[in-house]
Amino acid sequence: MATIFSKIAAGEIPCHKVAENEEFFAFLDINPVAVGHTLVIPKKEVDYLFDIDDAMLGRMMAFAKRVARAQEAVITCKRVGLAVMGLEVPHAHIHLIPIQKESDMYFGGAKLKLSAEELDKIATQIRNEFK
Ligand code: AMP
Repeated sequence: MATIFSKIAAGEIPCHKVAENEEFFAFLDINPVAVGHTLVIPKKEVDYLFDIDDAMLGRMMAFAKRVARAQEAVITCKRVGLAVMGLEVPHAHIHLIPIQKESDMYFGGAKLKLSAEELDKIATQIRNEFK
């Protein structure tokens, strides 16, 4: 059975899309810890990020870097932080989080409350900067 993230990449479940190529897909996290919090996934179903072969993992990181550059262009931040957990969704993903301070990467607290319109606006801005 397809994972929820496969269904998102296939357009079967709606998302706030940020970027896509033939191998990877990026979209806003629905429960962001910071504005612009984005997930990068491989279209191929792999549960654990570190089971991805080296060459593909390299391409995934290069794709994530392009997403991070687009985030930096539209969101005020010192850095784009990167996290990998995968405890909730069994489809490998990289969290890309625009941060001003260390605590912006805290996953255990209350998430931001952003409307669908706000998420849509942020996704559009990042998407327009993606090169
Ligand atoms: P984890 O697997 O622990 O890395 O966490 C999964 C992440 O996916 C969480 O930050 C969720 O908010 C996010 N998430 C789960 N379902 C969706 C969805 N349908 N759209 C966007 N983000 C999601």
